[in-house]
Amino acid sequence: MSLPPRLIEGYEAFRSGRLPAEQDRYRDLAERGQSPEIMVIGCCDSRVSPEVIFDARPGELFVVRNVANLVPPYAPDGAYHGVSAALEFAVGALRVKHIVVLGHAQCGGVRAFAEGSAPLSPGDFIGKWMSLITPAVERLGERGNSPDYLTRLEQASIVSALDNLMTFPRLRKLIERGHVKLHGAYFGVATGELSVFDPQSGRFVPVGNGAVRT
Ligand SMILES: [Zn+2]
Repeated sequence: MSLPPRLIEGYEAFRSGRLPAEQDRYRDLAERGQSPEIMVIGCCDSRVSPEVIFDARPGELFVVRNVANLVPPYAPDGAYHGVSAALEFAVGALRVKHIVVLGHAQCGGVRAFAEGSAPLSPGDFIGKWMSLITPAVERLGERGNSPDYLTRLEQASIVSALDNLMTFPRLRKLIERGHVKLHGAYFGVATGELSVFDPQSGRFVPVGNGAVRT
């Protein structure tokens, strides 16, 4: 059984290009272990790769990705919690200093939930998972004819994920003591523009000079 040809090609390119350039770093990381200072919680969406957007080198970002970059609230109920486990490891063992929730434009999970479209149904895993976005939907109120509703929902969902992070007792303590900082970010897939949540104004503000030159 072989990997898809695209992956074999990609690996060959990595082996002859990036690997020699990063070999010492990989060896060092293997010896000393990883110590990333930044955790990113992102979407599974293939267009929104945190390592690409932030031009990250091996060992720099601790990334967990899930459908629509959601964070479930703290719930020590014995169920399987992938995001919470990653969070526990990042905070407790790696002692990351920053946690970034990275949302994005044209999020299929957010749109499917907002429009009740396929493949969502009550029996699907994705339906249950996406119900985590309900507080953000309620916060926005009626959709009406708002043309930018999905953008606002994608961004409100990031804020909701930040709120849920505060429900993890150990993390909350670290945040209150200033040891960990939370950030919300939003990536415009078409433009490549990145905006960051400003808690003071409640708005997402473009990083750098705003519009990306193309
Ligand atoms: Zn998405």
